[in-house]
This record gives sequence, structure tokens and C-alpha cells, in this order.
Amino acid sequence: MSATQISFWNECQRKWAFRYLEKIYPAPKPGAKLGDDTHQKLKTYFSTNTLPIAPDLVTDLALAAIEELPAPNRALSVEEKFYFLSPTRAFVWVGLADLIDPRGSVPRVHDHKTTKDFKWAKTKEELVTDPQATLYAVYAMSRFRAEQVDLSWLYIRTVPTKKGVIKTRKVEARVSKDDVCEKFAEIDDLGAELVKLHRAKPATLTLKANRAACGSYGGCPYLSKCPVTEDETSDLGDFL
Ligand code: SF4
Repeated sequence: MSATQISFWNECQRKWAFRYLEKIYPAPKPGAKLGDDTHQKLKTYFSTNTLPIAPDLVTDLALAAIEELPAPNRALSVEEKFYFLSPTRAFVWVGLADLIDPRGSVPRVHDHKTTKDFKWAKTKEELVTDPQATLYAVYAMSRFRAEQVDLSWLYIRTVPTKKGVIKTRKVEARVSKDDVCEKFAEIDDLGAELVKLHRAKPATLTLKANRAACGSYGGCPYLSKCPVTEDETSDLGDFL
């Protein structure tokens, strides 16, 4: 179970089902490739301590991010894949943390995101309740035996200014064990319900549609498969 799966469900139940029940994976959008390539450049930078120098947009995005991130250091955990058992024992959580800095009194979890527009950046209030941030904070607290974790989400705008400058925006918050445990209990319960749905395999179009999400992130890739009318929205109750 991943935070992405929880976010898909929260965004639109049908969108979750198209992807996770029907396993329909649309071709990645160009923006997603740009994000992957930027992450790869940053990973190489942290592993080799060498600045990227190619004359391309990905390099410019990585260099803009590097200005906002700690210098390479052996203490940093870079692109660390983690797994841990849900307290329900019904499934395993999985995540990939871009960067964790355990130095200092409070570990800092960094996440880097490329975006066309800062309107997609989370606010500080959204960050502290975000499923991905919650999951990564739980992992960092457990791994480094910490009572608090700093979250540092770096947004890198992929559209340069007229002068060719790449802008970044950092959203940061400190969360305590109490804050995180409460939110984690919610997403862990939801994770267990989704495991049940994986077994029950309800027909996608019987799940609730969220029309407010159809236009998000450049448009839902399942729009052509998803007729939406008032009567088609239903409650989940039958399947849980
Ligand atoms: S088209 Fe809209 S309602 Fe249908 S799956 Fe996508 S976001 Fe949900």
C-alpha cells in the first residue's frame, strides 16, 4: 500500500479503481518524465557530489533544487525505499523518500516535486495532513527514534520566467508524534479498507465519481471511460 494509492482514492474513488483494480496505466505525461529525470539528476548529485552540467531544462531544474537542499553528505539517506507492516497486519506500507537528513535534533524529510504552476503546491496546513507526508514522517520517526520530524517539500517550477530563471517554493512544517499518529491511524484504516476492496473487486463504475477532480492535473486520463451522471454516484457501503 502506498500513499499514492490513498491520494488516488481521496481524489476520486473511480480513478483509484481504474488504476488499482483494472490496472489501466495511462502513458506518462511529459511533465512526469521531466520530474523523473530531475529526481535522477539529484540522485546522481547526492551520490557523486558532482554538479550536473548539461545545457538542458532538467539540469536547470536540478540546479535550482540544489540551491535549496543540503550539500551531499554520507549521513543523508537518498532515494531510500522503505517498507513497514501496517499495525492492522493486513498489508505492508511502501514508500520512497527523496532525501532524509537525520543530522541535528530533528530529522528532516525532504521531498522534491516539479510542477508547471505553484497553484499545485500544498500549503503548510495541507502538508501536515497529507498522506505521503504522514507516511514518511512515521517512517523517519521510527527509523531515527525521533519524537518530531521536519517536513520540507520543495516545488520546482518547470516553466522558467521570461529571464530564464527557474523558481522554487519550499513548504515546511514540524510535526510531532501525536500529530502524525492521529493522521496515520486514519490512513492506515483506509489502507485496510482498500485491501478489502482489492479482494471484492467492485465494478469501477459503481464507485463514487468526483467530478470536481476530472480536470485536475491537466485532465483525468480515464475521462473517456467514465460516464458521469448524478445517478451513477453511489456510496461505498455495499463493498466494505
Ligand atoms: S473522469 Fe472524473 S469521475 Fe471519472 S475517474 Fe476521472 S476524476 Fe473520477
